[in-house]
Amino acid sequence: MPTAQSRRTPTDNQLRNLFAKYPLVSNQAWASEWGVSKEWVRRLRKRLGFAPSSQIAAQVRADRRARKEADKIVAASRLSGLVCPVDGALVPASRQVTCSSKCAETYRATFTYRTNR
Ligand SMILES: [Zn+2]
Repeated sequence: MPTAQSRRTPTDNQLRNLFAKYPLVSNQAWASEWGVSKEWVRRLRKRLGFAPSSQIAAQVRADRRARKEADKIVAASRLSGLVCPVDGALVPASRQVTCSSKCAETYRATFTYRTNR
């Protein structure tokens, strides 16, 4: 006859799947779910070969940041098909008229000069 705890606590394989599937769920949250102590969950993770939850959370955050940075770089390198009126370079999709802020300055200076005459 299974005890209350063994009925609520998943098997090792289920635990591995759960820890892998929900890397950001805290030991405290699992502990409440299974009616065990936080320390018990911590030791369980260690026994099953999982890194400490704080380390995994930090890794997940670092991965997200890296992906965001990579997306930004890809977006910045996308070209609009326009040609910069100052130096003839291709204009990135993230910019309106010129290829760089330096060219934009030159362009504005030239434009201002022409309209002021
Ligand atoms: Zn330019």
